[in-house]
Amino acid sequence: VKEEAAAQTVVAAEAPILTVTEVKANVSMPEAAERAAATGADGVGLLRTEHLMLTAGVHPGKFIADGREDELIDTIADNVQIVADAFYPKPVWYRTLDAPTDEFITLEGGENEPREHNPMLGWRGIRRELDQPEILKCEFKAIKKLHEKGYTNIGIMIPLSQSPAELVKAKELCAEVGFIPHKDVDFGMMVEIPAAAIIIDEYLKIGVDFVSLGTNDLTQYTLAVDRNNEFVAKHYTEEHPAVMKLIERTIRKCAEAGVTCSICGQAGSVPHIVEKLVKFGITSVSSNADAIAEVRKTVARAEQKIILEAARKRLE
Ligand code: PEP
Ligand code: MG
Repeated sequence: VKEEAAAQTVVAAEAPILTVTEVKANVSMPEAAERAAATGADGVGLLRTEHLMLTAGVHPGKFIADGREDELIDTIADNVQIVADAFYPKPVWYRTLDAPTDEFITLEGGENEPREHNPMLGWRGIRRELDQPEILKCEFKAIKKLHEKGYTNIGIMIPLSQSPAELVKAKELCAEVGFIPHKDVDFGMMVEIPAAAIIIDEYLKIGVDFVSLGTNDLTQYTLAVDRNNEFVAKHYTEEHPAVMKLIERTIRKCAEAGVTCSICGQAGSVPHIVEKLVKFGITSVSSNADAIAEVRKTVARAEQKIILEAARKRLE
């Protein structure tokens, strides 16, 4: 009886909170994946690639210039495999490289990085990768390699797009390496530039498997507040009505099109914003591993509130 009671206590203490809205993890370092998976996260809503490159210590452009593509592919594949393994079979969204020019300057081969006046408005994300397609193709080849090994849980997510033509081009490059978007691999995008949020219907028309709101960038670009500039930091808020409108609109349009819409920006860790996102109909919230338990509770409360309100209305 004692043993049974103890077992029940354990079960009660460990009973997971169930939510319809998925709660996922943002992962930047492969070595943190195990811990993130142990939180019970429903997948990885954002796997940042920049850190892998910083750890490798060599600029991706240098790998290419030196004719060491295979090494670049293996570096990416080996690191991503650690994350895909920790979460298998839950989905892991690999975000293609999105490093502002000022971040890679310290790497071997980084001395050739352009000096930009405002790297945040500059050569980063998909706009840069389309100018340097060899790097993007190596990334696609790395994910393809992992799929062939059985890690079919990895999706590709394109950052910082401002027009659907970029996504079309990215899909073409992926197909060129023999990896067909939507057929062989889930292919999605981040909404981080207001232009993308405003014309989200056009993206949905050309086909995206999922959308993720990058509210860190969406906020800085909507409000013209450089997220790295301390002098304007007090003007930075995701709760500005214009930012919230873009978020709501994107979620609604995706819902109408039946496309998964997630969030991976910091706003997804702010309880009263999360409550609104759930109300708008977000399908998943991805946050840093240490915030997951709290986010899960907030999401559960928000869902309960919606159900209660609906039930009350019905009774009335
Ligand atoms: C974002 O912009 O919200 C995001 C998650 O991407 P990053 O912070 O890496 O720019
Ligand atoms: Mg971003």
